[in-house]
Amino acid sequence: MHATSDAAYNLMIRVLAVASEVYPLIKTGGLADVTGALPPALAACGVAVTTLLPGYPPVMDALTDATLVRRFADLFGGPARVMSSKHAGLDLLVLDAPHLFGRDGNPYLAPDGREWPDNGLRFAGLGAAAAALAVGSSSEPAYDILHAHDWQAALAVAYLKFHDGTRPATVLTIHNLAFQGRYKTSLFTRLGLPKAALSIEGMEFHGDINFLKAGLVYADYLTTVSPTYAREITSPVDGMGLDGVLRQRSTALSGILNGIDEQVWNPETDALIPAPFDRVRLSRRRINKTALQERFGLQADPHRLLLGVVSRMTTQKGLDLLIPRLDELAQAGVQVVILGAGDHALEHGFIQAAARWPDAIGCQIGYNEPLAHLVQAGSDALLVPSRFEPCGLTQMYALRYGTIPVVARVGGLADTVIDANEAALSAGVATGLQFAPVSSDRFWTAMQRLLALWPQRKVWERMQRNAMAADVSWRRPAQHYSALYQSLLTSRR
Ligand code: ADP
Repeated sequence: MHATSDAAYNLMIRVLAVASEVYPLIKTGGLADVTGALPPALAACGVAVTTLLPGYPPVMDALTDATLVRRFADLFGGPARVMSSKHAGLDLLVLDAPHLFGRDGNPYLAPDGREWPDNGLRFAGLGAAAAALAVGSSSEPAYDILHAHDWQAALAVAYLKFHDGTRPATVLTIHNLAFQGRYKTSLFTRLGLPKAALSIEGMEFHGDINFLKAGLVYADYLTTVSPTYAREITSPVDGMGLDGVLRQRSTALSGILNGIDEQVWNPETDALIPAPFDRVRLSRRRINKTALQERFGLQADPHRLLLGVVSRMTTQKGLDLLIPRLDELAQAGVQVVILGAGDHALEHGFIQAAARWPDAIGCQIGYNEPLAHLVQAGSDALLVPSRFEPCGLTQMYALRYGTIPVVARVGGLADTVIDANEAALSAGVATGLQFAPVSSDRFWTAMQRLLALWPQRKVWERMQRNAMAADVSWRRPAQHYSALYQSLLTSRR
């Protein structure tokens, strides 16, 4: 927390954030970036966030000067304690429950790649501990707001809903509706929730129980990570079976765009690229482009349009639209570099294309953070053809690096990129290209538009400068969250 006087501290809204991942302690996806970046941005808005996360081994190892805050004699099968600590500027509460979280590797998956069979209990433990901490005790003050992130934290909201006595206001943020925490009803009896929660108005879901649904029905307010995704998830097409619940709650649901970490993703200071650059020294990008072409063994030609992809390889990301077009792109003189991992069929498709077109197509399977920076800094355009995208980060990095994003018009991609249509081009405000619906034909039409823009150097550079000027910081999102907390507290008075 920033240095603040005691008087000012007392005026701050106190938030208990609850999440299963927090950067830089433990990360498997964008959720960790949000829970790591939002607290410092909120501090500047008068909001003091303390974040509760599970004590996985790497989290426990990173703790220094931790103090004991709470003990649970039996938290779903074993003793647990909550430790308070600071790390990387974050105020943390760590749930040290070895029987639930003392396992190496991925937070959710066993070494065989499958979910841990007791994930329901593990994250019920997180929720129950969060609720107990949120209401305070004789020695710790209660929080004003409990902010739960995704299904792993959603039961905190349910426990608070059925808590006797005063409780904080509750917010649940949906980072990806595809992940819901769905379990057999036999688990319900172990959760310690009243029977009323096992109903269609509660967490019952097609004969199972659904942790995310519990959060959706019981939270005072729901957010998701972009305005467009907030609308999309209320429709049957994108609602993942929960659209009916979300429609019922539509007056308490809104989208707040994520920001990006502007320290890590800053083309002016990026130590992971050979030639840092900015809006006035755009020509230095050429050095990065050459380095990227060489890194992938492609022909080092500054005039060839170079497209980049940095992505998980899953159906969500729509990369199956790109693979059948790689030959045509290469024939048209375009180069493509792909960095990603996931679905083996997709990986295979890219590897084969790279073998067919060694001077035009490059593919690196795996997760490589430094290479992701070079792809952003050296590509001319970045492809993000996602079928759905709650917010998306890579298109925002692309904007910051003057890499023209070509995106499907869905979710946060729709909200962050200004399409280079006639009107936007003549007004000089375009930052990228969008296509809709997500189909092979529309994707290809967008490619044709991109190829037509590439030789128009002035128009292209204007788009690059617009892109680099777009506000992708956490400042505005933090103001929105702060205003939301404030309005929830005001409406309770
Ligand atoms: P999602 O969380 O659905 O995967 P986002 O666009 O929100 O998609 O975030 C993806 C993050 O993971 C970005 O920071 C992106 O740079 C990074 N990333 C994805 N794949 C790779 C990879 N193979 N190597 C390095 N970084 C990657």
